[in-house]
Parts: sequence; C-alpha cells; structure tokens
Amino acid sequence: MARHLINLIVIATTLSACGGTPASSPSEVASPASTESQLEALATTSMLADIAQHVAGERIRIESILPIGADPHSYQYTPQDATKVADAKLLILFDYETYETFLEPLLLTAGGNAEFVFAGVGVGKKIDVDKGGFDPHIWLDPNNIIVCVENIREGLTHFDPAGAAEFKSNADAYVAELQALDAWIVEQVDQIPAENRLLVTNHESLGYFAERYGFTIVGSVLESFSSGASPSAQQLAALIDQVKASNAPAIFLDAGDNPALAEQIADETGVRVVPDLHLESLTDGAPAATYIDMMKYNVTQIVDALK
Ligand SMILES: [Zn+2]
Repeated sequence: MARHLINLIVIATTLSACGGTPASSPSEVASPASTESQLEALATTSMLADIAQHVAGERIRIESILPIGADPHSYQYTPQDATKVADAKLLILFDYETYETFLEPLLLTAGGNAEFVFAGVGVGKKIDVDKGGFDPHIWLDPNNIIVCVENIREGLTHFDPAGAAEFKSNADAYVAELQALDAWIVEQVDQIPAENRLLVTNHESLGYFAERYGFTIVGSVLESFSSGASPSAQQLAALIDQVKASNAPAIFLDAGDNPALAEQIADETGVRVVPDLHLESLTDGAPAATYIDMMKYNVTQIVDALK
C-alpha cells in the first residue's frame, strides 16, 4: 500500500517533468524575482544538502531534513520534519528504498506536493542479496557524486528554469572540485602498501570507495549494508578468522557506531580500532563541515592507519 502510494507520487512527478505542459500559473511566471532565495527546498541528509547547495548557489537555500550526526539508516522523523516536508516545493534524495527509509512514512504523514530529485539515478549500484540488496553508500566515491550533481542540476533547472545558467556554472565549478578530490585521494592512497589496502568496517559502507581506489573489503562487523543489523556469533567468529587471515591492520567505525563488537574483535585479533570516521553525516564545523572535507578527513584517517 505504502509502496504503491509513493510510486504514484514518483510517477506524477515524472509526468509533470516530461509532459511539456507549463506547470506555473501566469501570476507565478510574471513575478520571478519573488521566488529567488525564497524557494523551500529540502535534501534528506546534511551531506546531500551540502552537495545540492553547491549547485543551487545563492539562488535556492537547501535545508537538510536530518540534523547533523543523525544516522539516515535508522532515523525516526519528527512532527517538525512533517511540517517542513508538507511545505517543501523540492525534495532531493539518494534512495528512499535502501537508504532514507524514514522518507516513505514521512511523506505519507506529511503529504505535500514537492517535486522530487533522485540524485543517484544513473549510478551503477552494487548489489549483494545477503547484505541487504543494493549498497546505498554511493557518495563514498566522488565520481558518483559527479553523476548526482548532474541530476541535481537538471532537477533545479526544471524547478527554477530562470536559474539554468547559474546552476550550470555552479555545477561545472563543483565538478572540477570533485575531480580534484578524486585525484587527491588517488595520490594519498598511493602511500599505502598494496598488501595493506584492506578495509574492515562496522556495517559495509566502503564498497564504492574500495572499488574506485583499489582496496579489498575484508568484511564488516554487522555483515550488512545497514547499521541496523545484528550479527550472529557465527558471523562474528567468521569475521575474526577473516581479519586474522588477511592481516587487515584496522577496523574503521563511523563516529555514530557502537564500538563494542569492533573492540571485541580487536581484542581477539590485535587490530586497531579507528573509531571516528564520518561516513553518513557531516559534522558541525571541522572535521567534516562539507562533503569534500568529510572525504578528505576519512581518507586521511584510513591512510594513517594503513600506511
Ligand atoms: Zn551506512
């Protein structure tokens, strides 16, 4: 039932995007100045809001639904979120089925008639049925964010056609920054001996990063693409064996993770726990105030632990 409803919303949005019928009333068309900087646009997470803000520039303010530090895998929406969503005219998301799972019940509660921008459309998604289907963590490869930026630019342009040129030049400038970030990561990772390019995390979040930068995923404590899973004793024992066999030097945790199981594995294997990556959310100020800062911080932590 719920799935059916969101599908209808998505279909309606897609049709209005492709139909060629002007959606604005004549009075809205006649007063473009009044819409500038006043458009209510939401992104699901702090990271996505930062990325979208780089494309929107001064023209549209993008607000995050999730507060800094909240875990999108397990977020419970608030009545205030419902009010915001009901008023929103634009809503930018990664993937409500595998990541922002709070969004569907939130939309059913809030209603509203926001246009949707599916930022991750066109990114080739990794799939592993045992770990929960599709891996949602596409942002951990900046090349995927370049695809997202193009989707966001298109969505913003459809929403606010008068801003087209500005969104294009903002997107081009940001893509150049993302390309520089990618080159920087390649250079940093070069410091890690090939045999040490091994990643163990709490839930499996670094798959896209590993694929792009030549790491092997040894395993994850929760054996899942989501932070909500709980592993069996057999799964933990298997991971301990994998960590020992691979000589992986460290287990990387997100700052929001419960470290108990990772510490138990560290005790049995002698690996080091790096407890404070930021993989799902920005931070209020340093070290991960922006998506690019977040990536640089995480890469520095990984390189320091493995080189
Ligand atoms: Zn995650």
